[in-house]
Amino acid sequence: MSELTHLTMAAALEGLKAKKFSSRELTDAYLAAMEKHRGLNAYITETPDKARSMAEAADQRRAKGEANGLMDGLPIGIKDLFCTEGVLTTAGSHILDGFKPTYESTVTANLWRHGAVMLGKLNMDEFAMGSSNETSYHGPATNPWKRRGSAQGGSDVKLVPGGSSGGSAAAVAARLAMAATGTDTGGSIRQPCAFTGTTGIKPTYGRCSRWGIVAFASSLDQAGPMARSVEDCAIMLNAMAGHDPKDSTSVDVAVPDFRKALTGDIRGLKVGIPKEYRLDGLSPEIAKLWDDGVAWLKAAGAEIKEINLPHTKYALPTYYIIAPAEASSNLARYDGVRFGLRVPGKTLDEMYELTRAAGFGKEVKRRVMIGTYVLSAGYYDAYYLKAQRLRALIARDFTEAFKDVDVILTPSTPSAAFGVDENSDDPIAMYLNDVFTVTVNLAGLPGISVPAGLDSQGLPLGLQLIGRAFDEETLFRVGQVVEKSANFTAVPAGY
Ligand code: GLN
Repeated sequence: MSELTHLTMAAALEGLKAKKFSSRELTDAYLAAMEKHRGLNAYITETPDKARSMAEAADQRRAKGEANGLMDGLPIGIKDLFCTEGVLTTAGSHILDGFKPTYESTVTANLWRHGAVMLGKLNMDEFAMGSSNETSYHGPATNPWKRRGSAQGGSDVKLVPGGSSGGSAAAVAARLAMAATGTDTGGSIRQPCAFTGTTGIKPTYGRCSRWGIVAFASSLDQAGPMARSVEDCAIMLNAMAGHDPKDSTSVDVAVPDFRKALTGDIRGLKVGIPKEYRLDGLSPEIAKLWDDGVAWLKAAGAEIKEINLPHTKYALPTYYIIAPAEASSNLARYDGVRFGLRVPGKTLDEMYELTRAAGFGKEVKRRVMIGTYVLSAGYYDAYYLKAQRLRALIARDFTEAFKDVDVILTPSTPSAAFGVDENSDDPIAMYLNDVFTVTVNLAGLPGISVPAGLDSQGLPLGLQLIGRAFDEETLFRVGQVVEKSANFTAVPAGY
């Protein structure tokens, strides 16, 4: 274990300022850890040369007194969904083999402008479709956490890190990156954070630019930070966010200094507890964690209120119509002509067919077929239009709830991390992972997951806070109270 890789970003920034170590030393410590733990398969592409030269440039800026960026000299990983100029970007798919973008996504460009150092590109479910990282063409990333010796197959069972930002979560938890970018269409930041004892926020839709991020479901996708503390997420979101004229859905509102929101004072704040999230058969451990969260916030002076989100039960079916519908349209561009893989055929049509048949994995094909079906002339009204109406009702539930409360507290996931292959041939079981998170994307709201405890098998569990649109500040403030109360200091063994 290297001391340097155990620092939070906030602490590392202090260390860099005080010249206790250089960015090059910090970066070398991470590059060594990445090499040592390649078995986790967290990275698809490592960029050590780029990392060293970016770190040296950061050290030079600091020597000249010009290190003004929010993340100057901090080494991070990038989910392989973000286009990075000249660096392989696969979205976890075979169909993007060899794709080296000639442009940089706005979010990553913002991070580099703030002085962050790129360690490499992180593993993920193919096109961000999945909850376990098992749909990646590059093989699954593994969770650095293991079950305690005696429980369910014990410590030999490889666990998933969640998905789709599984490589990001595994890397942050295993100290193979200080922090990482993620994207969240239905839970892909929050669920893997909950599975790995890390912290991540899906900001309000429109807070971060989607320009240069490989599209999955454009009306739901949003980028966000994944890190090892609430404060680190606040710092990194400030570096990522902002209006971008290149993305017409990016919203032109001021980005507050999120660190200023971390006052610890939540007296008088109203916290909603949605009845509908207490699902039949909810695991007693998750129910207890949720009760603990309520008790912590009450003890800190918040007022707890039961609320109703009556259309919650329609959220998963609604999501699994809208997301595949948008995906089927977005993925039409992979035709063997413009990007990556091409399998030659005798005719143009045959080339399309062979390329898409070989290039897409099973889950992606399933979604393209579902999406095409629900958008087809005979079924559009019955499925897609109905789903759009339900989406409006789900959003309205939140608007009503936020008349009475300032923030909503729920569990992040219905279970702890599960074993590789345990759910992979049952798509419905896999889709249930998102039951607490998809509502937030459908309504375009911000949601944060904070590690809140360990279950009886020694695996991390997370609590989710949901806020009003563009009120990430309240999520950070309350999230930090949860973080302090939970006092989650556990680290996966061996990291
Ligand atoms: N697990 C969900 C899905 O498979 C969400 C994925 C995501 O947020 N990108 O669609």
